[in-house]
Amino acid sequence: MQPAGKKATGSVPPSDPWFIREERFDAAGLAVQESLFALAGGYLGTRGTFEEPVAPGIKSIEGTYLNGVYFREPIHYDESAFGFATHNNKMVLVPNGKVITLAACGETFVHGASEVTDFSRSLDLRSGRLARTTRWNLTGGRSLDIRTERLVSLTRRGLMAITYSVTSFDYDGAVTLTSTLDAAYGGTDRGGDPRAGQLSITDCLTPMDSGTDANDSFFLHRIKDSETLVATAACHAVEGVGATITPAAKPHVEGQRFDLHLAPGQTVTLTKYVQYDHGPLAEAEALDTRTRNALAAAAKDGFDKLAAEQEAELATFWADAGIEINGAPDLAEALRFNMFHLYQSAGRNGMSSIAAKGLTGHGYDGHYFWDSEIYVVPFFTATRPAIARAMLEYRYRHLDQARARARTMAHKRGALFPWRTIGGEECSSYFPAGTAQYHINAAIAYATIQYIEVTGDMGFAAEMGAELLIETARLWLEAGHFSAHDGGRFCIHEVTGPDEYSAMADNNFYTNAMARHHLEGAVRVMGRLAKDAPDAYAALVTRLTFTSEELGEWSEAAAKMNLPYDMKLGIHAQDDTFLNRPVWDFDGTPADKYPLLLNFHPLTIYRHQVLKQADVVLAMVLLSDRFTMEEKRRNLAYYEPITTHDSTLSTCIYAVANAELGNREAAYKLFMETCRMDLDNLHGNTHYGVHAACMAGSWMGVAYGFAGLRFEHGTPAFRPSLPADWQDYRFAIRAHGCGLAVSVAPNGTTYELIDGESLTLRHFGKNHTIAAGKPLTLPNA
Ligand code: BGC
Repeated sequence: MQPAGKKATGSVPPSDPWFIREERFDAAGLAVQESLFALAGGYLGTRGTFEEPVAPGIKSIEGTYLNGVYFREPIHYDESAFGFATHNNKMVLVPNGKVITLAACGETFVHGASEVTDFSRSLDLRSGRLARTTRWNLTGGRSLDIRTERLVSLTRRGLMAITYSVTSFDYDGAVTLTSTLDAAYGGTDRGGDPRAGQLSITDCLTPMDSGTDANDSFFLHRIKDSETLVATAACHAVEGVGATITPAAKPHVEGQRFDLHLAPGQTVTLTKYVQYDHGPLAEAEALDTRTRNALAAAAKDGFDKLAAEQEAELATFWADAGIEINGAPDLAEALRFNMFHLYQSAGRNGMSSIAAKGLTGHGYDGHYFWDSEIYVVPFFTATRPAIARAMLEYRYRHLDQARARARTMAHKRGALFPWRTIGGEECSSYFPAGTAQYHINAAIAYATIQYIEVTGDMGFAAEMGAELLIETARLWLEAGHFSAHDGGRFCIHEVTGPDEYSAMADNNFYTNAMARHHLEGAVRVMGRLAKDAPDAYAALVTRLTFTSEELGEWSEAAAKMNLPYDMKLGIHAQDDTFLNRPVWDFDGTPADKYPLLLNFHPLTIYRHQVLKQADVVLAMVLLSDRFTMEEKRRNLAYYEPITTHDSTLSTCIYAVANAELGNREAAYKLFMETCRMDLDNLHGNTHYGVHAACMAGSWMGVAYGFAGLRFEHGTPAFRPSLPADWQDYRFAIRAHGCGLAVSVAPNGTTYELIDGESLTLRHFGKNHTIAAGKPLTLPNA
């Protein structure tokens, strides 16, 4: 209850669409909020857990992670077979640096147990800071106001900073703040859900060294069974009133205790800086020095400077990637929120990518999937190409492991990328929905070709891209064959497409269509490389014993690709036998039996026509120019009713497909669902972490869906439309070194260069060149 005359300060105006707000403490939804309020800086990520403890019985999931940093764990099979993945990779948990406890008047503040009024939290998408205000009403009737702000730096790798202020409203007495690094948390209950991930920090890390003195504390851990160290260090500044500082260490916990006195109206502010890093065991000293120096520099610069840097960094991101919608505030908020998480969670250093759950939870053990290349890289190619490049570089760095994996799979040449991994090895222990998804190779190629053609970055092509394309393209000639039985058509057997409710199929349409795109694109990029960078081309020819006959083979395989088609229905069959199966009994399946994967044995599902996610329809969206509108209409009409959308990677694709066909209502509904998937916890599992691919899918909904954007061999091509409820919308893309603002309004679409000299684009199939300072408005038809 709110005591009369007492009001905590610092609330955010409720209508500001740049803020994600929470107005009351929600014990039941806490673990979901912790995912939503997670902060990350591309490397360090930490869930939005509170500084203070939470009452027993309330589900809270702690997690602090370093992108790309994992430990290996043997996979145990009771029935193993040759070539099964041998080890899992798990994103490590590192010490929780957020912990600050508050005690006064003999009580300790505990969320869900202490009496609180005026609780509110807000994530400011412009400043990147998570703020909270809480009024704690002590048993004796006195109150303390708590205000916290937290950031994980986007510019200083591995740094987190927190300000924790306590103001006495009417309390006069002793206050104790205890600030620690906690290296003993963890253990989520998987509850039978294979997507959950289950870990405690002590499963991941072995203590090597630790210490606490008057101001600093640190940990040095070794990642289990590895030669990698993780360093964590913290220091503090106290302002407002004097404090007596004493060490507060216990097993697996290092930190300080601050004893002070507050009189009514007085405020104490504790600023905590926490620095994380990792490095090889042999370079422990360098790691230690690096960590301490980074920490000291942050503390010297202070929270305000860090906050200003963060805001400046985000301002550039929003200038490049911001979407504005007039007429749909809920959507504008959701889109920003989604893009903010993508930006936070994507690796920038060429050693990491984006996990399925970003850096917001350890669902799926922090693995990278095809989600990165089909959903997230295209977003960055069009907004922040440097991040797209770094994510592709990550794949390149693991090319040797992919080559080795291809040999294990009895392919004499080429590379096969793992279905799920962190460190580059195959980690899927269920091969029918894992290794069998050979389309991972096509996904990496799709993103690589698009990146090269949209940015024109031939340096990347020469250094890494072409080699990635050659080695992954070679695999199709190994996995597939020209079938004499099938009139010489190029067939690929025993693969699983994106739809994981079918497995081990022959000629999965999506896989074959994407393989064709891959082979053709590889021929194109190689041709361009030969022309633009003949030396680099010649070097590749020698190093990879690459021949022009191979280019001929790729073209032939592409030309003869078997793309299953059913004459009777006039649609593409998802695979050779898909249409022979009975349709799933949707009428007889109650709502609580979804997602099907948690309620039916895989075989039961595989025997039916039922889709977890877009498959043929995804191919139609990604390879839009290969299908007529009529074909698109017929395929969508067939596949949509039998798609469950049990994967969050699905609704966005159906939204785009519907938008393209002018099915406005359906498109909008699916787009809404995509946009608010995590904010509204629509799949009921956001507590394991947000859904990064779906978040990128919401950007696709606007760019590919309503604005009809496709990159046609690198040229941006638009077919804009305006959803009924929107007054107008605006977004920006980058292509060929230029920034382009696109504003879609009832009277037409305006294209304007933000930077660069001139850019050629297509508007409803017709070329236009936009020159600097000369915006062009064209009708929306
Ligand atoms: C989807 C996959 C996806 C994975 C990780 C699964 O549910 O079916 O396509 O890669 O989640 O997001």
